Amino acid sequence: MIDPALNYRLSLSINLAIPIAASLAALMTSGQSAPFAVVLAWCVGIWTYWLIEYLGHRAFHVISLGHQAHHDDPRAPVAMPFWVGTAAHFVALNIVWWLFDLPVALAFVMGSSLAYAFYCVLHESMHSAPAMIKRLAPQLYKHHALHHARGDVNFGVSTWFFDWFFGTLEAPSTKKICHG
Ligand SMILES: [Zn+2]
Ligand SMILES: [Zn+2]
Repeated sequence: MIDPALNYRLSLSINLAIPIAASLAALMTSGQSAPFAVVLAWCVGIWTYWLIEYLGHRAFHVISLGHQAHHDDPRAPVAMPFWVGTAAHFVALNIVWWLFDLPVALAFVMGSSLAYAFYCVLHESMHSAPAMIKRLAPQLYKHHALHHARGDVNFGVSTWFFDWFFGTLEAPSTKKICHG
């Protein structure tokens, strides 16, 4: 069993490295496919990640898989095993490549891995540097703070679109919400 703090650091570093590698590869191959298809695949990659983020987080509230530890102590280094995200990007790359072509698959993974890296930094900062996030993204901060306060609403972290879509959106009231 890998040390949780090491797993957390590895997870954060790898999830920042993958979109950089995917972006370079996507830029190198993008000319081999229609520009519209490449841009569309990039957008679909982002939205696919946002949907998985919502459904995954909602599932973690049924089958915890360690997620309760994050709610018990939001500042503890809790993360999925560091290789899970990498494996998911690799599987997604191969599925989209099989369905379409390599440039489209790389653009998809560029979008999904960028959205995942953004989530990793955003969520880490919400708990380790709340003052900064309250200033930079006050609505997203309140949205996630309310999730920690309630536990049964606001499962999206990067966007509240899917909470609205699936009926789990709770808009923050004006009263102060505190979390770790
Ligand atoms: Zn949660
Ligand atoms: Zn959290």
